[in-house]
Amino acid sequence: MALVNEHFLKLPGNYLFADIAKKVNAFKVQHPGEDIISLGIGDVTRPLPPAVVSAIHKAADEMATEAGFRGYGPEQGYGFLREAIVKNDFLPRGVHLDPSEIFVNDGAKSDTGNIQELVRWDNSIGVTDPAYPVYIDSNAMIGRAGVVEDGRWSNVVYLPCTAGNGFVPQLPDRRVDIIYLCYPNNPTGTVITKDELRRWVNFALRNDTLIFYDAAYEAYIQNPDIPHSIYEIRGARRVAIEFHSYSKTAGFTGLRCGYTVVPKEVTAATLTGERIPLHTLWQRRQSTKFNGVSYISQRAAEATYSPEGREQVRQAVGYYMENARIMREQLTRLGLSVFGGEDAPYLWVQTPGGESSWRFFEQMLYNAHVVCTPGVGFGPSGEGYVRFTSFGSREDCQEALGRLARWIG
Ligand SMILES: *Cc1c(COP(=O)(O)O)cnc(C)c1O
Repeated sequence: MALVNEHFLKLPGNYLFADIAKKVNAFKVQHPGEDIISLGIGDVTRPLPPAVVSAIHKAADEMATEAGFRGYGPEQGYGFLREAIVKNDFLPRGVHLDPSEIFVNDGAKSDTGNIQELVRWDNSIGVTDPAYPVYIDSNAMIGRAGVVEDGRWSNVVYLPCTAGNGFVPQLPDRRVDIIYLCYPNNPTGTVITKDELRRWVNFALRNDTLIFYDAAYEAYIQNPDIPHSIYEIRGARRVAIEFHSYSKTAGFTGLRCGYTVVPKEVTAATLTGERIPLHTLWQRRQSTKFNGVSYISQRAAEATYSPEGREQVRQAVGYYMENARIMREQLTRLGLSVFGGEDAPYLWVQTPGGESSWRFFEQMLYNAHVVCTPGVGFGPSGEGYVRFTSFGSREDCQEALGRLARWIG
């Protein structure tokens, strides 16, 4: 008899977006013919940049020839991409990485979920709250998160980010082995300053804490003083692993490519105190469980660094950020308290009158035919908020705002 991994049974039955889809479907059944606009989805809508598309065509043609055919590639990614990453994403910010510290992946979700395999099940974890659900759920699957009690995992240290603290999480008041940080933040759309990030790195150095830093949205940063990488902070190379993705930047959600940075200095301890480089372990893990990203996707990712590619990515980001600006302005004009949306494609909106996230979500669905995401789905501190994304088309965005104005105004 095969015994099931019972930790899976502790996970909430439904993924947040399945719950939302169910409620939207119920509305559609009752109101056939009504069209609904979703400002809830976390998926991009702009087509791939032309420079990326030509790279895909070119790579496909190469693969069609005997000389250009590529089979299994290096598990860690092709040198051409890892070198382009080091040169374009880090060097200009004064960060010196070796291409061997870059692990190309099929998107940041896999690695943010898998990285916890490198550390023992009984480490403690701290997570900013609200958060991208992958961080806690992946830990829950091997029993590290404990059990859910009143909507909170018993072994997770929640670091609340709310309007009350300006979305700046407090350093934990107890020792935590591992901390997940995500900036620019999904879902709140807020960012972290260099000084605040330095506090986290120093905390990690002092307390021997490992930081998993999710930088999936760094391309959305507009303010030149906001750090794009945790390695801009001195000492971070010893304590942090960082995740990047081409998904939200260059429209790769369906194409799949990202990368993880594991500096050679990052270590974790054995019970006897020996320090083991996580780079070695991650390389071992990847070469066992992963066979690399397709050559075509890696050439596509490389193309985002060409002069045309960079300009086209900049334009796509600019399009979504203009949506965000319009949404921010109009939602604020409607009297709502709006956070984020200045250096990130997300707006985090307080529900009026302290209504619950789900109730406000349903009222908006039924009265304005607009879908958002209930904040509580991202963690207990998300209660009383909803998330809007700026990933829709300009037309949908404006139509949705008009409906919200008629409803609220
Ligand atoms: C979208 C997202 C990712 C990664 O998405 P991939 O498509 O797997 O690269 C990672 N982290 C956060 C916070 C995200 O929102």
